[in-house]
Amino acid sequence: MDSLCKTNDNSAAEVAALLSPVPVLQVQEYFNQLITSRGCNGIEVKHNGSFGKCVYANSEFQEDELILKDQILVGMQHSSNKMDCLVCSFCFRFVGSIEKQIGRKLYFKNLGLSTCCDGDSSESGEDECMKGNDEQQCGGSSSNHNLPLPQEVVTSLMNGEMALPHTDKFPLPSPLSCPGGCQEAIYCSGSCAEADWESSHSLLCTGEKSESVSRDALGEFIKHANETNDIFFLAAKVIAFTILRYRKLKAEHVKEQAKQSVTKQSLLLEAWKPVSMGYKNRWWDCIALPDDVDPSDEEAFRMQLKNLACSSLELLKTAIFDKECEALFSLDIYGNIIGMFELNNLDLVVASPVEDYFLYIDDLPDAEKEAAEEITRPFLDALGDEYSDCCQGTAFFPLQSCINHSCCPNAKAFKREEDRDGQAVIIASRRISKNEEVTISYIDEELPYKERQALLADYGFTCKCPKCLQDSSVASL
Ligand SMILES: [Zn+2]
Ligand SMILES: [Zn+2]
Ligand SMILES: [Zn+2]
Repeated sequence: MDSLCKTNDNSAAEVAALLSPVPVLQVQEYFNQLITSRGCNGIEVKHNGSFGKCVYANSEFQEDELILKDQILVGMQHSSNKMDCLVCSFCFRFVGSIEKQIGRKLYFKNLGLSTCCDGDSSESGEDECMKGNDEQQCGGSSSNHNLPLPQEVVTSLMNGEMALPHTDKFPLPSPLSCPGGCQEAIYCSGSCAEADWESSHSLLCTGEKSESVSRDALGEFIKHANETNDIFFLAAKVIAFTILRYRKLKAEHVKEQAKQSVTKQSLLLEAWKPVSMGYKNRWWDCIALPDDVDPSDEEAFRMQLKNLACSSLELLKTAIFDKECEALFSLDIYGNIIGMFELNNLDLVVASPVEDYFLYIDDLPDAEKEAAEEITRPFLDALGDEYSDCCQGTAFFPLQSCINHSCCPNAKAFKREEDRDGQAVIIASRRISKNEEVTISYIDEELPYKERQALLADYGFTCKCPKCLQDSSVASL
């Protein structure tokens, strides 16, 4: 198995260059530019010796003040979440209509396909959905067990033939299908479709306009990722993103008539730069050993992960290989990309407008509420507790990923009314003074010391925040 993914000797030097640490000055320059382009001038990214990158406040922040908004470099909705929420494949905004969202969900639920039926609550983003929402009993729905509706009713809701009351207060953009002709990607706007095509989708589209080497192989790769670990698809997005950036940089360089000659390697390094700020370790080396694996089986477990990544990479190579970017298809690079998603705090959560809709109905004046509920109640009952399911996925946010963890943080991720897409929004949870480090909590910071440390081990560090230092000294007494 090992020989299957052996890096070609030609590209070994390039792989080493891609994986060597970026000089501090270049890191600084990269983040300064990013901060300016994001318009979050109240912060600064600094290199802090053994702690790596940290975010500092450049100015004072008051409680609830916006610290930064960060855009996704690459992201995806979990495949298990796709039947629950119909969202834009680029910005993750909900699309269609309230009726379509509800109808679609009930349709899959009736088929027994929706994830909400199999109790898949292990996703780490689950708790996040509830943040910022008073958990209200919505018209007493949770007392009713999910009552299935006739399929004709569900279909007419999904097709837009049936309208629910007051949904005009919650307009959603019409979904656009992928310009490449695949069935998998949908968009909220032409600009999202175009941006995704340019960023990575042109190589990963399975439609007729796909620029991949083999659409069949791409289909095989996607199938394998869906059956094993959908993080492979995100890793493929990173590789496609880097290849497309490389081609663009090269084209610009050729157009500028190259006053000074630039090597292929330096263009590839430049294309890879946004990713190089994020990776830390290889997936199979860094992932914490799951509880159900005996420590004596650790080596076999890690080898199994490596082999799985290797099979996935071979399929991807057949699908989108580019000789000039050969180094990107080494197992070492693939392992580091997947590891980047394992070692950062990367939950992507977008709250559902369906939840807002039912809360709105519940809040109507009595007479109006009664009239509306006569129509909406059967749907709410059929949805049960899953009426509020949010869009869940994984994404890499270049700036947010620099914010360190603390169990007594001064900032938090919090989506406001206007932030209904996949952007990360960080606000101050208390006053932050100038030159203070900005911190967020990657876990539930109210958990006892031991549980916190166990969860944080998955991110590859031991927390030494003031709260942990105090708790550990009490524990050792
Ligand atoms: Zn969009
Ligand atoms: Zn497509
Ligand atoms: Zn701590």
